[in-house]
Amino acid sequence: MKYSSFNLNEQNQKIESRIVVSLERISEAFRVLLWNESKENSLSPIQIQILIFIYYHSLEKCKVGYLADEFNMTKATISDSVKVLLSKELVTKETDPIDTRSFSLSLTNEGKKIAKKASFFASSIEHPIEKLTQEQKAIMLNGLLKLIYDLNNSGIITIQRMCFTCSNYQIDNGVHYCKLLNSKLAENELRVDCPEHELRI
Ligand code: SF4
Repeated sequence: MKYSSFNLNEQNQKIESRIVVSLERISEAFRVLLWNESKENSLSPIQIQILIFIYYHSLEKCKVGYLADEFNMTKATISDSVKVLLSKELVTKETDPIDTRSFSLSLTNEGKKIAKKASFFASSIEHPIEKLTQEQKAIMLNGLLKLIYDLNNSGIITIQRMCFTCSNYQIDNGVHYCKLLNSKLAENELRVDCPEHELRI
Protein backbone atom coordinates (compact mmCIF):
# COMPACT_ATOMS: atom_id res chain seq x y z
CA MET A 1 0.00 0.00 0.00
CA LYS A 2 1.66 3.20 -1.22
CA TYR A 3 -0.55 5.82 0.44
CA SER A 4 -2.56 6.09 3.61
CA SER A 5 -6.35 5.82 3.42
CA PHE A 6 -6.34 9.21 5.14
CA ASN A 7 -4.35 10.83 2.30
CA LEU A 8 -7.13 12.73 0.53
CA ASN A 9 -5.63 12.28 -2.96
CA GLU A 10 -5.51 8.52 -2.48
CA GLN A 11 -8.84 8.39 -0.67
CA ASN A 12 -10.70 10.11 -3.49
CA GLN A 13 -9.26 7.63 -6.02
CA LYS A 14 -9.97 4.43 -4.10
CA ILE A 15 -13.31 3.16 -2.81
CA GLU A 16 -11.47 0.89 -0.31
CA SER A 17 -9.90 3.96 1.32
CA ARG A 18 -13.25 5.74 1.48
CA ILE A 19 -14.78 2.67 3.15
CA VAL A 20 -11.94 2.58 5.71
CA VAL A 21 -12.41 6.28 6.49
CA SER A 22 -16.19 5.80 6.71
CA LEU A 23 -15.72 2.95 9.21
CA GLU A 24 -13.41 5.19 11.20
CA ARG A 25 -16.12 7.88 11.33
CA ILE A 26 -18.66 5.29 12.49
CA SER A 27 -16.28 3.97 15.16
CA GLU A 28 -16.05 7.59 16.37
CA ALA A 29 -19.85 7.71 16.65
CA PHE A 30 -19.78 4.52 18.77
CA ARG A 31 -17.08 6.03 20.95
CA VAL A 32 -19.05 9.25 21.55
CA LEU A 33 -22.36 7.46 22.24
CA LEU A 34 -20.73 4.99 24.63
CA TRP A 35 -18.92 7.82 26.38
CA ASN A 36 -22.21 9.72 26.88
CA GLU A 37 -23.82 6.61 28.34
CA SER A 38 -20.83 6.05 30.65
CA LYS A 39 -20.90 9.61 31.96
CA GLU A 40 -24.58 9.30 32.80
CA ASN A 41 -23.82 6.30 35.01
CA SER A 42 -20.45 7.51 36.37
CA LEU A 43 -18.79 4.44 34.87
CA SER A 44 -16.05 4.04 32.25
CA PRO A 45 -16.91 2.90 28.68
CA ILE A 46 -15.39 -0.56 29.28
CA GLN A 47 -17.38 -0.96 32.52
CA ILE A 48 -20.58 -0.23 30.58
CA GLN A 49 -19.52 -2.70 27.86
CA ILE A 50 -18.91 -5.39 30.48
CA LEU A 51 -22.37 -4.85 32.01
CA ILE A 52 -24.04 -5.07 28.59
CA PHE A 53 -22.05 -8.20 27.70
CA ILE A 54 -23.01 -9.96 30.95
CA TYR A 55 -26.66 -8.99 30.46
CA TYR A 56 -26.84 -10.80 27.10
CA HIS A 57 -24.42 -13.72 27.44
CA SER A 58 -24.33 -17.03 29.28
CA LEU A 59 -22.57 -17.38 32.64
CA GLU A 60 -19.63 -19.45 31.31
CA LYS A 61 -18.64 -16.51 29.05
CA CYS A 62 -18.75 -13.98 31.90
CA LYS A 63 -15.26 -14.68 33.22
CA VAL A 64 -12.36 -12.24 33.39
CA GLY A 65 -10.27 -14.18 30.84
CA TYR A 66 -13.09 -14.42 28.32
CA LEU A 67 -13.97 -10.73 28.76
CA ALA A 68 -10.31 -9.80 28.21
CA ASP A 69 -10.32 -11.67 24.88
CA GLU A 70 -13.75 -10.31 23.94
CA PHE A 71 -12.67 -6.69 24.39
CA ASN A 72 -9.04 -7.17 23.29
CA MET A 73 -7.72 -6.00 26.65
CA THR A 74 -5.40 -7.43 29.27
CA LYS A 75 -6.81 -9.48 32.16
CA ALA A 76 -5.40 -6.86 34.55
CA THR A 77 -7.41 -4.06 32.88
CA ILE A 78 -10.61 -6.11 32.98
CA SER A 79 -9.94 -7.10 36.61
CA ASP A 80 -9.64 -3.42 37.57
CA SER A 81 -13.00 -2.67 35.93
CA VAL A 82 -14.59 -5.71 37.59
CA LYS A 83 -13.33 -4.51 41.00
CA VAL A 84 -15.15 -1.19 40.47
CA LEU A 85 -18.35 -2.96 39.37
CA LEU A 86 -18.15 -5.22 42.46
CA SER A 87 -17.59 -2.26 44.77
CA LYS A 88 -20.61 -0.46 43.25
CA GLU A 89 -22.64 -3.66 43.75
CA LEU A 90 -23.52 -3.89 40.06
CA VAL A 91 -22.09 -7.42 39.67
CA THR A 92 -21.53 -10.39 41.95
CA LYS A 93 -19.11 -13.32 41.75
CA GLU A 94 -20.50 -16.80 41.04
CA THR A 95 -17.90 -19.38 42.09
CA ASP A 96 -17.45 -22.34 39.79
CA PRO A 97 -18.50 -25.45 41.81
CA ILE A 98 -15.89 -27.59 39.95
CA ASP A 99 -12.97 -25.14 40.13
CA THR A 100 -13.38 -22.95 43.23
CA ARG A 101 -10.50 -20.65 42.11
CA SER A 102 -12.54 -19.66 39.07
CA PHE A 103 -15.61 -17.42 39.04
CA SER A 104 -18.15 -15.95 36.66
CA LEU A 105 -19.87 -12.60 36.98
CA SER A 106 -23.58 -12.02 37.17
CA LEU A 107 -25.55 -8.80 37.43
CA THR A 108 -27.30 -7.55 40.54
CA ASN A 109 -30.75 -6.00 40.10
CA GLU A 110 -29.19 -2.53 39.88
CA GLY A 111 -26.59 -3.85 37.38
CA LYS A 112 -29.39 -5.30 35.23
CA LYS A 113 -31.25 -1.99 35.26
CA ILE A 114 -28.18 -0.07 34.07
CA ALA A 115 -27.17 -2.73 31.52
CA LYS A 116 -30.66 -2.88 30.01
CA LYS A 117 -30.88 0.88 29.53
CA ALA A 118 -27.25 1.23 28.40
CA SER A 119 -27.67 -1.52 25.78
CA PHE A 120 -29.63 1.01 23.68
CA PHE A 121 -26.61 3.31 23.44
CA ALA A 122 -26.16 2.55 19.71
CA SER A 123 -29.83 3.04 18.72
CA SER A 124 -29.09 6.23 16.82
CA ILE A 125 -26.77 4.20 14.57
CA GLU A 126 -29.48 1.59 13.96
CA HIS A 127 -32.15 4.13 12.89
CA PRO A 128 -30.44 5.22 9.63
CA ILE A 129 -29.69 1.56 8.82
CA GLU A 130 -33.43 0.82 9.07
CA LYS A 131 -33.97 3.23 6.14
CA LEU A 132 -31.84 1.11 3.76
CA THR A 133 -33.48 -1.41 1.42
CA GLN A 134 -33.39 -5.10 2.37
CA GLU A 135 -30.86 -5.67 -0.43
CA GLN A 136 -28.57 -2.87 0.80
CA LYS A 137 -28.75 -4.25 4.35
CA ALA A 138 -27.85 -7.79 3.20
CA ILE A 139 -24.88 -6.51 1.14
CA MET A 140 -23.69 -4.38 4.07
CA LEU A 141 -24.01 -7.25 6.57
CA ASN A 142 -22.15 -9.65 4.29
CA GLY A 143 -19.33 -7.19 3.64
CA LEU A 144 -18.94 -6.42 7.33
CA LEU A 145 -18.96 -10.12 8.29
CA LYS A 146 -16.21 -10.82 5.75
CA LEU A 147 -14.19 -7.90 7.08
CA ILE A 148 -14.58 -9.08 10.71
CA TYR A 149 -13.65 -12.63 9.64
CA ASP A 150 -10.43 -11.43 7.97
CA LEU A 151 -9.52 -9.21 10.94
CA ASN A 152 -10.11 -12.19 13.21
CA ASN A 153 -7.91 -14.43 11.02
CA SER A 154 -5.11 -11.90 11.08
CA GLY A 155 -5.33 -11.73 14.90
CA ILE A 156 -6.41 -8.08 15.10
CA ILE A 157 -9.68 -8.92 16.81
CA THR A 158 -9.94 -12.03 18.93
CA ILE A 159 -13.12 -13.87 19.84
CA GLN A 160 -15.81 -14.17 17.19
CA ARG A 161 -19.11 -16.01 17.46
CA MET A 162 -20.17 -15.55 13.85
CA CYS A 163 -21.38 -18.16 11.34
CA PHE A 164 -18.15 -18.01 9.30
CA THR A 165 -16.09 -19.31 12.28
CA CYS A 166 -18.64 -21.92 13.44
CA SER A 167 -18.28 -25.69 13.05
CA ASN A 168 -22.01 -25.84 12.20
CA TYR A 169 -21.60 -23.55 9.19
CA GLN A 170 -21.38 -24.84 5.64
CA ILE A 171 -21.42 -23.09 2.28
CA ASP A 172 -22.24 -24.91 -0.91
CA ASN A 173 -22.45 -23.09 -4.27
CA GLY A 174 -22.92 -19.81 -2.42
CA VAL A 175 -25.75 -21.20 -0.24
CA HIS A 176 -25.16 -20.80 3.49
CA TYR A 177 -26.29 -23.63 5.75
CA CYS A 178 -26.44 -24.23 9.53
CA LYS A 179 -26.14 -27.91 10.53
CA LEU A 180 -27.39 -27.18 14.04
CA LEU A 181 -30.54 -25.38 12.94
CA ASN A 182 -30.75 -27.83 10.04
CA SER A 183 -31.66 -24.94 7.80
CA LYS A 184 -30.40 -22.73 4.99
CA LEU A 185 -29.38 -19.23 6.03
CA ALA A 186 -30.20 -16.32 3.75
CA GLU A 187 -27.54 -13.62 3.41
CA ASN A 188 -29.53 -11.43 5.79
CA GLU A 189 -29.77 -14.24 8.38
CA LEU A 190 -26.04 -14.77 8.91
CA ARG A 191 -25.26 -14.21 12.58
CA VAL A 192 -22.53 -12.05 14.07
CA ASP A 193 -23.01 -13.20 17.70
CA CYS A 194 -24.75 -16.55 17.94
CA PRO A 195 -25.50 -18.19 21.33
CA GLU A 196 -25.14 -21.64 19.71
CA HIS A 197 -21.79 -20.85 18.06
CA GLU A 198 -19.22 -23.64 18.28
CA LEU A 199 -15.73 -22.58 17.30
CA ARG A 200 -14.41 -24.39 14.23
CA ILE A 201 -10.98 -25.78 15.09
S1 SF4 B 1 -24.87 -22.40 15.15
FE1 SF4 B 1 -25.16 -20.18 14.97
S2 SF4 B 1 -23.13 -19.40 14.32
FE2 SF4 B 1 -23.18 -21.60 13.95
S3 SF4 B 1 -23.78 -21.75 11.79
FE3 SF4 B 1 -25.61 -22.00 13.09
S4 SF4 B 1 -26.48 -19.92 13.16
FE4 SF4 B 1 -24.37 -19.71 12.48
